[in-house]
Amino acid sequence: MTNLIQNSGNNNNPFISVVVPVYNEQEVLPEFLDRTSRVLEAREIDYEIIFVNDGSTDNSLELLNRFREKDPRIAILDLSRNFGKEIALTAGLDYSRGDAVIIIDADLQDPPELIPEFISAWQEGFDVVYGKRKKRQGETVLKRLTAYLFYRILQRASNVHIPEDTGDFRLMSRRAVDALCKLREQHRFMKGLFAWIGFPQRCILYKREPRYAGRSKWNYWHLWNHAIEGITSFSIAPLKIATYIGLITAFFSFSYGSYIIIRTIIRGCDVPGYPSLIVIMLFLGGVELTALGIIGEYLGRVFDETKRRPLYLIDQYLPSRTANGQ
Ligand code: UDP
Ligand code: MG
Repeated sequence: MTNLIQNSGNNNNPFISVVVPVYNEQEVLPEFLDRTSRVLEAREIDYEIIFVNDGSTDNSLELLNRFREKDPRIAILDLSRNFGKEIALTAGLDYSRGDAVIIIDADLQDPPELIPEFISAWQEGFDVVYGKRKKRQGETVLKRLTAYLFYRILQRASNVHIPEDTGDFRLMSRRAVDALCKLREQHRFMKGLFAWIGFPQRCILYKREPRYAGRSKWNYWHLWNHAIEGITSFSIAPLKIATYIGLITAFFSFSYGSYIIIRTIIRGCDVPGYPSLIVIMLFLGGVELTALGIIGEYLGRVFDETKRRPLYLIDQYLPSRTANGQ
């Protein structure tokens, strides 16, 4: 019951902010706005939709401006360039004013029809209500497999419980948003940050649809970097693992070395000492480079954080013009 009071979900006439990161989404924006507004209006919810334009190079911004002229509940936060989804989300959360904030992708992979369910759970007292994918559709077996492995590894490597098959689609209470906004790290692994803040959380299962239109900005290189981000942000296990990899490599190298030495004794060799030398050199080089690379990943992140740059810059902010959000 105390949660009910603390997370402000008991407010009879709550004001909801919907934060939508937008990067070149002109094909989906009209349909997105249509579906989302329909869901929220049907429930007579007071809301604003904050579109965060993350440096789109297509007509997304013009489209958003046109939407805003017609609908006073629309706010536009125009970033000075493309900063990436994580930062766009953070900017949207910083500018949100709602008693609860919903984060949703513009591409309709997260069904807006789930929002009323999120709100009900929030009103029951949950601070964070997140959507969990029931089934992945329109994605290749390889993507499904890599996602599966990533979550499993992350779970093992970090102390924070990061729910699997969960994206950014979620509702957060005001206090959860305020807590999240205090985390100003440059390398923003959002799934981890969402989990780190804690508070009562509930998951709601949903079927993730394929993208409505347009193209995903993700590719395997991005996914790989995302995975490294997740692990280095939430765990120092790789630094420890480096030690063990060193030991294991040493073992195999020793076995291979023994084999070469024995073979050389039996069969002879053109240049005496050469095989054993090359084995030792390769072994040491490999282990050292791996360990250095891992240290480098962490050092690079320390470097980025020490610069203390602002997370994003705003070109312009056009707030919503709703009475409730003032
Ligand atoms: N997005 C963004 N900045 C970026 C890339 C993506 O704001 O640099 C937004 C994009 O417009 C969409 C959401 O983030 O609303 C998810 O992007 P996408 O569909 O490309 O990712 P996926 O669903 O494939 O993970
Ligand atoms: Mg998508």
